[in-house]
Amino acid sequence: MYYEEYLPELNRTAEKFRDKAQKKLKYCTTCQPYDGGEYIWIMGNKTSIDEIFDDINCPEKYREDIAEHLHCPNCGKSGFEQYEVAGTEDLHVLEEERKIKSIYTRFEKKLIDFRSHLEKLPSLALAHPLGRKIHKEIINNNVKTISIKQTNWSRARLVTHSKVFEQTDMTAPEVGLSSGGRFHHQGQSVLYLAEDDELAMIETLDNPNNPSLIWIQKYIQELELTGILDLRNDWDTLSDDHNEVIQALLAFRYIFEKVEDRSSKWRPQYFLTTFIADCAREAGFNGILYTSSRSYGNNLVLFNPNSTAVHPIDKPKVFIYEPKKSLFEDPDDLTRFF
Ligand SMILES: [Zn+2]
Repeated sequence: MYYEEYLPELNRTAEKFRDKAQKKLKYCTTCQPYDGGEYIWIMGNKTSIDEIFDDINCPEKYREDIAEHLHCPNCGKSGFEQYEVAGTEDLHVLEEERKIKSIYTRFEKKLIDFRSHLEKLPSLALAHPLGRKIHKEIINNNVKTISIKQTNWSRARLVTHSKVFEQTDMTAPEVGLSSGGRFHHQGQSVLYLAEDDELAMIETLDNPNNPSLIWIQKYIQELELTGILDLRNDWDTLSDDHNEVIQALLAFRYIFEKVEDRSSKWRPQYFLTTFIADCAREAGFNGILYTSSRSYGNNLVLFNPNSTAVHPIDKPKVFIYEPKKSLFEDPDDLTRFF
């Protein structure tokens, strides 16, 4: 006999209340860490099953039976008692969800309109109300500014011929050489760095599904980098340091929109980001830290490619990049790189 078979039967009405209560129930005492036999409540908003029933106006006569049907979605514990302690969603999580929802409602149409305006008139961002607003907020510094203390960075280039690269081949391309990117215009010279080797590789490839040979240059940062615009996307939290319009840009992920085919010269995904980069330059920022659109981690673009805060160390090395075949990789498998 299974546990479920012993559960009291619920009628249609009771089932509806069970579903409502189940939606609200997020944590239980089993989820919490224990110290000397006593739990310390840290996950969720502490309440009781009965208070959840109060919230949804569940009739008293169903409560005891429904409680037995509930399970904790976080740890899997099944079967509760009516007066048992339980947790609903953290109040700050609910508040965050409300904020994100409100930003979506207010900015969705405007952002879609701005994006299609930029596709038609890439250099006329300031002719659109949202363009003017983004410009104003960045110029007035209503954005999150950070200093970076990270010490190591990586930069990658594809192996395209047999020449052995030196450090000088792995610095920022000089003016006139770059074909343009997320935060710079064609021909501009800026320095892009990734926070680790793997991310640098993935960012460099035209198609991360194909194995490739790649040069990796390690960079060391000896001085603190100041005046960096923080455009990292935190998925479920929006930074209050940003003005709402910047929060909307991050929430909609337009800043991180992926260019599927990098060999194509038509890359409208970059019109918005190069505009933001221009605003940031005008406002005096030294660079932008942003979330990768291709993998996990952050990239840094420095507007001054000769920044003295970072410099290459050791000789560049060649690696074999192989696309991940499964999520579960053997960490001891060293054949991926040499
Ligand atoms: Zn639990």
